[in-house]
Amino acid sequence: MNKRIEIPRGEGYEEILDAIVARITGIEHFKHHTGCYFGNNVFEIRPYYFGECTCSRKKEFDKYLLENPHTKDCFITDLQILNDSYKKYPNYHNINKLKAERANEERRLCMIYSIPYKSGKNLNNICTCGVLSKFNVVHEAHCLQVLPNFYFKPEELKIYWYKTYFRDSYVTQELTKEKFKNIIGECLRSI
Ligand SMILES: [Zn+2]
Ligand SMILES: [Zn+2]
Repeated sequence: MNKRIEIPRGEGYEEILDAIVARITGIEHFKHHTGCYFGNNVFEIRPYYFGECTCSRKKEFDKYLLENPHTKDCFITDLQILNDSYKKYPNYHNINKLKAERANEERRLCMIYSIPYKSGKNLNNICTCGVLSKFNVVHEAHCLQVLPNFYFKPEELKIYWYKTYFRDSYVTQELTKEKFKNIIGECLRSI
């Protein structure tokens, strides 16, 4: 099992990684901090992956959920009912109004279940009946959902982030800024 050590945001790690992103993309000030795609025998870098699981876990998970549905009083069940109720407006003329309405409904639902609500928060895995936590088949290493966003091969050091680098980020080994600078230096020399 890999370690999971948090990396602080806004303490200079972004700027260190910028150097390699700038070299690969040719964009000097890569302000969006999303990362880019590159890989060689020294390192790999890839942006956060927004898509679905690409390994066999998804199939197993779907099968598991069919056999073990969420209970009637689970948050997910109510969320599903809410989601379904909005599917009937595919061509709704005022999409912003619809989004606002839906956000309000989600907020209300969260209140009922005492779930802290934040706009844009992923609610789809907040199971209150325990079905989700009992499923624990892990993703295969090649699955796009679990590939690291930065991988330094000589030390098998992996960094993960959410959407932009060092947001909700963690690394699989102890890391200091000095060490990270050295790593990025080695990556730069390998291109
Ligand atoms: Zn997967
Ligand atoms: Zn549930």
